[in-house]
Amino acid sequence: MTTITAALNNKIKKTPVRGMMDNVMEQFHTAADHIDLHPSIRKILSITNNEIVVHFPVKMDNGEVEIFTGYRVQHNNALGPYKGGLRYHPTVDIDAARALAMWMTWKTSLAGLPYGGGKGGIQIDPSKYSQGELERITRRFTFALADNIGPEHDIPAPDVNTNSQTMAWIADTYMSTRPPAERTANQHVVTGKPDGSGGLEGRDRATGYGVFLNIKCWLKRNNETLYGKKFIVQGFGNVGYWASHFLEKEGAKLVAVQDAFGSIENQQGIAVEDLMNYTKTNDGSIVDFPEASVLEKDGFLGTECDICIPAALGNQITKNNAASIKATLIAEGANGPTNGEGEKILLDRGITIIPDILCNSGGVIGSYFEWLQNRNGELWQLGEVMQKLDKKMEESFNKVYEYSEREGMDLRTAAYCIAIKRIEKAYVQRGIFP
Ligand code: GLU
Repeated sequence: MTTITAALNNKIKKTPVRGMMDNVMEQFHTAADHIDLHPSIRKILSITNNEIVVHFPVKMDNGEVEIFTGYRVQHNNALGPYKGGLRYHPTVDIDAARALAMWMTWKTSLAGLPYGGGKGGIQIDPSKYSQGELERITRRFTFALADNIGPEHDIPAPDVNTNSQTMAWIADTYMSTRPPAERTANQHVVTGKPDGSGGLEGRDRATGYGVFLNIKCWLKRNNETLYGKKFIVQGFGNVGYWASHFLEKEGAKLVAVQDAFGSIENQQGIAVEDLMNYTKTNDGSIVDFPEASVLEKDGFLGTECDICIPAALGNQITKNNAASIKATLIAEGANGPTNGEGEKILLDRGITIIPDILCNSGGVIGSYFEWLQNRNGELWQLGEVMQKLDKKMEESFNKVYEYSEREGMDLRTAAYCIAIKRIEKAYVQRGIFP
């Protein structure tokens, strides 16, 4: 028995699978070395505070009961309540939830928000379930998480395959399980809710808009404009669509798109709204869009363009495809789309990467506005929201860009240095209990 286990362990050690955690830890240590992070704080930030794993039963439409596994990882709350999305995807596991929670800690810190970082989700393919089943799964997951989430403790939001409807179910379930006098005061337990249920106008487009703003800021620094620039988008969900929408409006041209079902290209330009309308009639997929030709899945990232926006899942740009990328700018709409090996190749080739924790931070900044709106019993107008987002995103971009110029480092390392320093300061000021 021991021999078998030892042999198995050996085998595992010899063939390590590089997961998302390796990616985020490598990024963290690179920056921590640069700022000479205090060793105790490096230890604290290298590990997650809490990891909640729940198994819960849900009755399916056919009357049978299925057991689901849900995760919520709370990485760090030195700067405020844990904050981050919930994703429903087959790749959700403890490694992914840990890495994604860490990314949230850096993201909220960099954005100057009073939040820490958390992330979670359920390992499912939501397309296999009916709307009724998804509602019961979501409500039962919320019930299982119980007091591990809360408006001043840990505030989930949408992520891959979850949306404002998912958030409405969570808010309703959470509020329904509070004592009567506390019910309505707990609306801000989640952000990304629908407009009519405490949601923020503009939260739907906040992440994609932020991606667009970052690209614009970078072009401005390089005395260029969006007009005539070609871009490709991996993922045509909330982030990919809205980023494309705003880029097209300023004269850039969408030339290729990839989603979970296929890839399409048209170097003359793909009309963003037409594609969006088409997906609505095609089970959410871009496949067979009439005004484009079919592209090979593996060659997608190597498509001719100026700007590449990975806006789907992690670990997409790797040593296998980084050399083939034609874009001179990568704007990370997704979390962790570029792994360490891929990144090295890109940087050696002089390609700029606007890192996820900066590039897609418009979403969590929008979430913060929603949280404030709920907490203060206010209703903000769309124009006001977009204006506030503009200001905050530009400040963040400038901070990172100037730090990277000053210190002679890439944008990701600069973003990490700023984010980690802010957390370090909080620990230095407060000390460690007891
Ligand atoms: N899921 C989004 C992200 O990865 C939003 C998180 C939030 O708004 O809390 O940044």
